[in-house]
Amino acid sequence: MGTSETSVFAPDYSQDFHCIADRCRHSCCIGWEIDIDDVSLERYRQVPGRLGKKLRRCIYDPETGNDPEAVAHFILSKDERCPFLNEKNLCELILSLGEDAICDICTEHPRFYNTLTTRTEMGFGLCCEEAARMLLTWKTPIRLVETGTMSSEEEITEADFDELEILAIREKIFRILQDRTKDLRTRFDEIRDLVELPEQAVLPDLSFWSETLAELERLDPAWNDEIERLKDTVLDEAVLQAFEAFMCEAGRMTEYENLLWYLLYRHLLEAKDDGDIRAQVIWAVLAVKIIGALGAWRYKENGDFTLEDQIDLVRMFSSEIEYSDENVECLIEAIRDREYIL
Ligand code: SF4
Repeated sequence: MGTSETSVFAPDYSQDFHCIADRCRHSCCIGWEIDIDDVSLERYRQVPGRLGKKLRRCIYDPETGNDPEAVAHFILSKDERCPFLNEKNLCELILSLGEDAICDICTEHPRFYNTLTTRTEMGFGLCCEEAARMLLTWKTPIRLVETGTMSSEEEITEADFDELEILAIREKIFRILQDRTKDLRTRFDEIRDLVELPEQAVLPDLSFWSETLAELERLDPAWNDEIERLKDTVLDEAVLQAFEAFMCEAGRMTEYENLLWYLLYRHLLEAKDDGDIRAQVIWAVLAVKIIGALGAWRYKENGDFTLEDQIDLVRMFSSEIEYSDENVECLIEAIRDREYIL
């Protein structure tokens, strides 16, 4: 099979993405295991001098290590930092060897790619605070733009029926979602009608979802506090409405519009696996409503809700839930168990 070129599309808001490196408060070089691809590993094996010695000491190399099943990776320090992240939170490998010395995962993060039958869609994952900032501060309706081509080992084929159907529904949802002549509640109701959800699927039962989230795997203890807050009785309809009024007044409802856009852009095509488009739509709407409720809680407590608060919530939700296939699967199962009633 030969290689073929496919067009790559990306959202317009993400065109100027740059890692903010030492200004990042939740660096992806802390707390995540970083695997090393074969080409980078070979290069690291050849680096001379002190840096070379450190590389050989601080990476797990399956050729010399005692677990042949394990893939090559950086050995994190006790506080879970990449050993090459210096005290100023800058990458020692970039400083010494240049940008192209970093391994594929570090080069690509936080990009994601969805390979469709006729094109590739890419974007920037929200576990990165800078990616979240770009999404949340974008003020015009998000559009996809063609950014170039990418080689693929796979033959270009006709888009299959499921893919075309899902893309058509996604397009319809995006049209409703971005119709700013209507308020966001009305748009969410119209999306609910489009995928034929029951009328009562409007407000989530927050304490049920708090219990469900508490059963999932968690990374950061700060997320436990957020989960607990969903049970808090201050989160009644009056508080949610006051918060909505505050966000409308501040011209910030686009943050929720963009968030739902991102979740559907990135995940709706996963319905190809089981044909359950409604479950994917509900999980995305549920995610936005949970993040909205957590925002309302902070607003009620602090009398304010800043953009930094929102970035923090979105980043945390993404890292804890969106980036864990297992956690998303559990949420979708819980949605199905409740017969699509949020
Ligand atoms: S999380 Fe994003 S901004 Fe922060 S270090 Fe990683 S890529 Fe850079």
